[in-house]
Amino acid sequence: MTARRGGDVAEACLFCRIVAKGIPAKIVAETDDCIAFRDVNPQAPVHILVVPRAHVPSLNQVTDWMIVGKLAQVATDLARREGIAEKGYRLVINTNADAGQTVFHLHLHLLGGRKMGWPPG
Ligand code: 5GP
Ligand code: ZN
Repeated sequence: MTARRGGDVAEACLFCRIVAKGIPAKIVAETDDCIAFRDVNPQAPVHILVVPRAHVPSLNQVTDWMIVGKLAQVATDLARREGIAEKGYRLVINTNADAGQTVFHLHLHLLGGRKMGWPPG
């Protein structure tokens, strides 16, 4: 799941380009393995995407499961920093068509700052 920097995947993938700082994003956190940036079309007062630096299309292609824990750790740290940890927040990973995945570089949505319904649409 190593990103081929400068290769086909990195050039074609929107989130690889954000990771490479080739296109701008409002970055709110960076670690060795992950970066987090605000969603361009927020669905809640806090809507942040946490992505691995390495390209992996979705949960279905994950081989290094540590990365999923690292995404969750960054998101939880950000929930505290954004002041929504106590009231509540939601972490979502959409996978493939039925879930509505539109960008095929694994990402964890951190949503909060408003009351959310269940079940999701
Ligand atoms: P998905 O539907 O794949 O789970 O989520 C993709 C998310 O990426 C959507 O919430 C969408 O608003 C966000 N998004 C798409 N293009 C961009 C972009 O260029 N910049 C940022 N910051 N977010 C994007
Ligand atoms: Zn990518």
